[in-house]
This record gives sequence, structure tokens and C-alpha cells, in this order.
Amino acid sequence: MQSTIQYIESQLNGFYPSSEISAFVRRIMESVFDLSYTDMILQKDRVFDLHEKERVHHIVERLKTYEPLQYILGETEFYGLGLKVSPAVLIPRPETEELVNWILESNLAENARIMDIGTGSGCIALALKAGAPQTSVMGVDVSETALEMAESNAAQKQLDVAFRKADILRWDEYAWEMQDVIVSNPPYVRESEKAQMEANVLKYEPDGALFVSDDDPLVFYRTIAGLALKYLKPDGLLFFEINENLGNQMIEMLRQMGFHDLELRQDINGRNRMMRCKK
Ligand code: GLN
Repeated sequence: MQSTIQYIESQLNGFYPSSEISAFVRRIMESVFDLSYTDMILQKDRVFDLHEKERVHHIVERLKTYEPLQYILGETEFYGLGLKVSPAVLIPRPETEELVNWILESNLAENARIMDIGTGSGCIALALKAGAPQTSVMGVDVSETALEMAESNAAQKQLDVAFRKADILRWDEYAWEMQDVIVSNPPYVRESEKAQMEANVLKYEPDGALFVSDDDPLVFYRTIAGLALKYLKPDGLLFFEINENLGNQMIEMLRQMGFHDLELRQDINGRNRMMRCKK
């Protein structure tokens, strides 16, 4: 194993910072060889066979093109759940785990009805169902391939979450049930902000999950808040993950639409990243 680890480190040196390479090593050992960090220490003299070395070689070559490791392995971890991911869905981010945490801490009624809009891999919907098993959770997405991934994640985790295909920008063409909680992490990166993004995000992650035009960057929020005005129960909660630069505009818009108890929260990096309000 030592020589395999050295191989990964030397090959990726110059492509990624060493802290990230160490994280890759652990994820590869865990995902490909089912070895925990403790196993790695205890089995450090284990010798990988040719086939195993081939697999590592293949992964390393893909990492050199900056393909995200989560897509190469086809899986990632979110809120303690191992979830399958593909380039059809955004890779779940740690800041979204913080949003899930906030929802679960919000004194939900035990049988609350929750809707996650733009569910992608299903990460928010599934983590909420896992954390609050008595709730009824539904995930909505416009992408058929994303919904297939979300459904397969639900089946694998044996989480009873319903998924529904809908274009949320045309929500008034569908019938919806009244909800206790509506949550969304919609596309929020403005086209003009692309320049600041990592090459691997731009090259591999789905544009439709990330980008909005500079002309109307709040289009998803305004539309979803409109749906919430009609389908959120009185005192129901609306949660959003947001663009760190648009916090004040979000507050202003939601206040004007009649929402109250508006609260903005920062993520672990100190950026305005999520908000909660009441109908
Ligand atoms: N946080 C993601 C990123 O910066 C964007 C997620 C989104 O647009 N909803 O890559």
C-alpha cells in the first residue's frame, strides 16, 4: 500500500495542494478498497495486485484532467449518507449540510410535510428524511436523469421519499399539496461570477444546476417564494441556500413579498449562505 500511496502522491503533485491529495488518498482507499483510515494504518504493508493498481492508475489519470473525484468514484458523502452522484447532478456541498442541519434544528412538527425544490442527487430530501423519519418528504427536479439518481439513492438508503418531475418556473401549471417546509438550493451563480469558479466545477458540473443570468439572478427564489405564498401552511418555513453576494437583496425581496422572521446565516467560511423565513 505504501508504494501505491506514494504513486498517487507523486503523480498528482503539482496538480493539487498536498492536503487535497491526502484527502484523495483516503477517499480512494475507502471507496475502491473498502479500507478505513484505521485499516490503512493497520494494513500499510498490504500489497495490491495488478488489477488493483490498474484501478488506481485509471483514477489518477482522470484526476489529472481535474475531473472531480466524486464523479470518478460515482459517490460522495452527505450528512452521513453515502450517495451516488453523476455529472447529471451537482456534487453536494458541505454548506448544504449546514442548511440541512438548520432545518432539522427548527422544531419541525413530527409529521411535517417537506418539499425540496431542485433536489438533484436528492441530498437535502434524503438527509431530512433520515434525520426526521416521521416527516413526509418530496423532492422535485426538472431533470429526468437527476430524478433517476435521487430515486436510486432513496432505494439504496431505504428512505421513503417521493420524487416528482416538474419545471418549477411553471409551478402554477401543476397541483401541489400544502407544505410545512419548503427548501431549495437553486442555481444561483451569476454568469459574471464564472470567472471566479474552479475549472473542475465549470468543466464537469451541470450548468443547469449552477448558473443564472445576471439580468435576473433571483428568478428561482422569487418563483419559489411565489409558490410558497400559495402552498406553505400559515407559519410554515421557507429555507434557501443563497449566493453569498445577494443576501440583502434576498431579504428585501422576501420582506416585500410578505414573509417575516427573516434570518440570514453564514456558512462555516463566514459567507452569507442560507436563509430562513416564515409565511
Ligand atoms: N455552492 C455552489 C458552488 O459555488 C453553487 C450551488 C448552486 O448554484 N446552487 O459551486
